[in-house]
Amino acid sequence: MSDDSTPKKATVGTAEDGPELVRFDRVSKRFGAHTVLDSLDMTVYSGKHVTLIGPSGSGKTTILRLLMTLLKPDEGTIKVGDAYLTHEEKNGELVPAGEKHCREVRKNIGMVFQQFNLFPNMKVLRNITEAPVHVLGLDKAAAEERARGLLDLVGLTQHIDKYPSQLSGGQQQRVAIARALAMRPQVLLLDEVTSALDPELVAGVLDVLRDIAHTTDITMLIVTHEMNFARDISDCVMMFDQGRVIEFGTPEKIFSEPENDRTREFLSAVL
Ligand code: ADP
Repeated sequence: MSDDSTPKKATVGTAEDGPELVRFDRVSKRFGAHTVLDSLDMTVYSGKHVTLIGPSGSGKTTILRLLMTLLKPDEGTIKVGDAYLTHEEKNGELVPAGEKHCREVRKNIGMVFQQFNLFPNMKVLRNITEAPVHVLGLDKAAAEERARGLLDLVGLTQHIDKYPSQLSGGQQQRVAIARALAMRPQVLLLDEVTSALDPELVAGVLDVLRDIAHTTDITMLIVTHEMNFARDISDCVMMFDQGRVIEFGTPEKIFSEPENDRTREFLSAVL
């Protein structure tokens, strides 16, 4: 056992898996005096599924929000595919990269949130086609065909003409997953996507995600409290504490033989 909390440079996969898809180089994020991410180094290769675990406030959601460009790093560089976010020199000062870079990064990312965030005034089909048509410029027929395929994947074909309010929370979340995939992102971010659901609806959503993880080559970064799910689908589990990766490895290793005392404490509280 150890309480070694030296930050680890976390790498998931190798060049044999394909290109590096997500990379954080010495990324720090602060809110006022509070350092939420502390010089984070992390690399995830194509197709890998990574689950971020750790106590509340350890910085997990901040990582997803940085990738989605809802936040900007104070220091360091974030790369997603060929796009990157860093700092630019303007009038002798370093300022965060501008909107053009953010848009390029966002193009590669799909995100599903705890609250489904569907457009309440649009039927299911249009919720899914809206961004492909208006952001990607896909024609309506092609977007609808793509949406139908995705609705089949998430098991909601018969609900295509309903409004979100006519669906259960679990069904709404499955629409949100289809909507994220409709943009054909290289990376899917899942931020506690079952936390707001009634317990009986959780399994249906997790089954859909398992299916996507096992049948597509999409790269996933996942924040979840569902440890069995994490065990099933993750190539790597990363344990965060105070904005740093303190341990990472296969789910078998992290869940069965954690080396760090903080990881053991955390897991004994949640398992
Ligand atoms: P986790 O997902 O591990 O629970 P978060 O990444 O959500 O942790 O948050 C890390 C810390 O950053 C928390 O202490 C949280 O209160 C703080 N934080 C997150 N967002 C903001 C914000 N917009 N303004 C101020 N503090 C924030």
